[in-house]
Amino acid sequence: MTTFHSTRSTVDALTSKQAIRKGIADDGGLFITDTLGEQQVNIDHIEKLSYQEIALQVLRVLLPDFTDEELTTCISRAYGDQWDDENITPLHQIGDDYVMELFHGPTSAFKDVALQILPQFMAHTKSENNETVMILTATSGDTGKAALAGFANADGTKITVFYPEGKVSQVQELQMSTQQGDNVQVCAVRGNFDDAQSAVKSIFADTEFAQNLRKNSNVVLSSANSINVGRLVPQVVYYFAAYAQLLRSQKITRGQEVEFVVPTGNFGDVLAGYYAKLLGLPVKHLIVASDKNNVLFDFFNTGTYNRKRPFFQTISPSMDILISSNLERMLYYMSDKDTRLIQILMNDLQQWGAYEVPDVMMARIRALFACGWADEDQVRQSIKDCWDEYQYVIDPHTACGYYVMKQIPSDPNTPRILLSTASPYKFPRVVNEALGFDAQGTDFECMDELSKNTNTTAPSALRDLENAAIRFSKVCDIENMEHIVEQAASKA
Ligand SMILES: *Cc1c(COP(=O)(O)O)cnc(C)c1O
Repeated sequence: MTTFHSTRSTVDALTSKQAIRKGIADDGGLFITDTLGEQQVNIDHIEKLSYQEIALQVLRVLLPDFTDEELTTCISRAYGDQWDDENITPLHQIGDDYVMELFHGPTSAFKDVALQILPQFMAHTKSENNETVMILTATSGDTGKAALAGFANADGTKITVFYPEGKVSQVQELQMSTQQGDNVQVCAVRGNFDDAQSAVKSIFADTEFAQNLRKNSNVVLSSANSINVGRLVPQVVYYFAAYAQLLRSQKITRGQEVEFVVPTGNFGDVLAGYYAKLLGLPVKHLIVASDKNNVLFDFFNTGTYNRKRPFFQTISPSMDILISSNLERMLYYMSDKDTRLIQILMNDLQQWGAYEVPDVMMARIRALFACGWADEDQVRQSIKDCWDEYQYVIDPHTACGYYVMKQIPSDPNTPRILLSTASPYKFPRVVNEALGFDAQGTDFECMDELSKNTNTTAPSALRDLENAAIRFSKVCDIENMEHIVEQAASKA
């Protein structure tokens, strides 16, 4: 029986349902299994399968205590009509390379792939006391909306999202403040994202508060953070789906190796590609793309991970990260599952702000992973180059990957797939600036301008926000956040 334990110790032996419900291990480590890769995903007929059928093949290996029936229910609810492409994550060819569009879900960012199904998983993890799980999140933009859209009206759950007042884009704010659903709560906070994030962390750490919530409202808190197993495993699916699409269109032969270029911050997206390789997908290299916050680039080059560096707020905000949490899982597997080593490294990170990985391990890591990064001018130039060369519009996060991909000479025998993580219409002002179009006026005017000049259409869920009714306009102080959570918990 496959069980989950922490990357930092072997004391736990949880089922995947328990790991999903718990989120993070008590010692701060991330949940992993030691059997990953023992059972492979069969790719013999994968080109004949739909996205949903591929999802079943992959998820039954990674979440073995879910029945096929449970998984099928979760999958059909998560990947249905709320997606505007029947392939869910379609491929688009640009020259010799491919772009996999991960943004066809309800909020137009790739986090939908995981956050549409996480609430379905949660619904199958109910405890005996039948308590309600309340998801609590501080967001700098994308995650909050994707979590709201996933958890809205999901059985046995509530969700409360805090965002820094005035620090998210007009579209992002409207995406959250107009969210439908009886179990959702959105509140702006006076302060910046770090203040809101720290306050959420201290609410999670307040055991007395947790006891009261459970006693008074039968509510337990949980996070929809990207380190949750339930957010990681759905992302493994689209790597297989990309391969299936290339087989179907006869661009590759079965068994042929491919490469993925992945814009990342927290290392979640690219880690899923590593899991796909361990499950048998023919992946030659995984190329990590960072923005100006290039802590991962330095790590792959020097073997030292050092977070003591300036933080840059860039035009690719969802990749502005200095602590790349999911890297810990890759290090665990690359260290031959050495929990002691991982514990030492993570202690070093906490205590000194840095850790150093042994040379033999780095050699093994470099055989599979490469890394590059793009500064903001390079991101703007890449948006322009991609449009000029292929008449294809990309967002600033995808553009980091595009820049890195173009720096590497391509090998005609190894097709490359760039993962596109957001619709350009989520960042219409930056994209218009890069393309030399009018970037004055509201975000909606920018969308219309982009649409007119590129002959593409804005996702209606984004364009329609201009006239959507606002449901949440509350602003609170940091000190008041706990009270807001309490109120939301007690609401029937
Ligand atoms: C979250 C996000 C990323 C980074 O994803 P990781 O999980 O950190 O790999 C990249 N692009 C967009 C648009 C995102 O929202």
